[in-house]
Amino acid sequence: MANGVKKIVILPGDGIGPEVMAQSIKLMKAFEEPLGLTFEFDEHDFGGACLEKHGVPMQPRTLESCKKADAVLLGAVGDPKYDDSPPEKRPERALLDLRAGLGVYCNLRPIRLYDALLHASTLKNIVVRNIDMLVVRELTGGLYFGEPSGIKKHKDGHRSATNTMTYSEDEIRRIAVKAFEFARRRRLKVTSVDKANVLAVSQLWRAVVDEVATSFEDVELEHMLVDNCAMQLIRNPRQFDVILTANLFGDILSDEASMLTGSIGMLPSASIGDSIPLYEPVHGSAPDIAGQNKANPIAMLISAAMLLKYTCDRPLAAVSIEDAVATILSRGLHTQDINLKKGTVIGTAEIGQHIIDEALHSFCDTIMAS
Ligand code: NAD
Repeated sequence: MANGVKKIVILPGDGIGPEVMAQSIKLMKAFEEPLGLTFEFDEHDFGGACLEKHGVPMQPRTLESCKKADAVLLGAVGDPKYDDSPPEKRPERALLDLRAGLGVYCNLRPIRLYDALLHASTLKNIVVRNIDMLVVRELTGGLYFGEPSGIKKHKDGHRSATNTMTYSEDEIRRIAVKAFEFARRRRLKVTSVDKANVLAVSQLWRAVVDEVATSFEDVELEHMLVDNCAMQLIRNPRQFDVILTANLFGDILSDEASMLTGSIGMLPSASIGDSIPLYEPVHGSAPDIAGQNKANPIAMLISAAMLLKYTCDRPLAAVSIEDAVATILSRGLHTQDINLKKGTVIGTAEIGQHIIDEALHSFCDTIMAS
């Protein structure tokens, strides 16, 4: 592939996915020239949109294209009309198969509260001011992938259901190493979250994390039970730097942590492994507000900023985008989810355009000044 050309697979998905994705594509196009990059976008139906057209949640050719790309940018999946469908006919299946197919076992969820959104958090300012943590969630193992799984109908008509939580020590070791490496770039603390008082899987998790910690003596390690962590996130979130946890616990804790930032519409993520990275907002398809220009595109825009930082090695552009978000929010321009009668409510496309214009302006100023 020619230098400066980045092939990005675009998976808008369902509900608000296409609306927020449109803003990220605009952002990346706007940054092409100043960054000296060309983005080749390759868009595919995904999730419910793919079920509708092709009868499957993800076509095999989509996974093949993702494997040949430089990165994948995903909106969200989910449509209530598939709620009673079997697992292989649900939009969410596409997401699980994509993550597993790309081997992106490490999900990074930075959680930061912008000062301009102190009003939007449901907690007191004194509790949430300056929170800055990174949830490192294991993404391709654990309860969501373990076998056997499924609902069984017995001969007498009675039904039972099974899911299996399983981790090998290699799966635990590789995600733990990532968490310690990220802690070294931050405030040198890892909180490993498990349920070791009850679950054998967590007992192995704890033992392997302890082993990994011996190679990172400069990083402080603490273990915390998941129920206590859920409580501590609300009581004193500033104590956390890097939270390392398994698939199920990370899914739940990061949604809880999202409310510290004011809205789930603020939370980006990057999923990395040994090959192609996947960037996506943490939120779902939000069917309640889909198609109404009400969705907050900031999580999606910052996911694209993470792509510029990690895949394109353009950290300054990523900083410009985050700073632009802070500036626009401080001008009182908000989507409805973060407003709480404190500013002016504008739509998805409008706030997206303000952020893009501001980011481009501040990036060009930074480049001129350097
Ligand atoms: P959700 O994240 O879609 O919505 C939860 C609430 O947050 C809703 O009130 C919604 O309006 C609001 N919200 C979410 N994102 C927002 C945004 N960007 N701006 C403003 N408000 C926003 O979660 P849900 O309602 O539990 O799930 C809906 C569907 O999404 C389900 O089918 C679920 O399986 C799917 N889902 C997909 C993903 C994903 O694609 N990564 C993640 C979670 C849920």
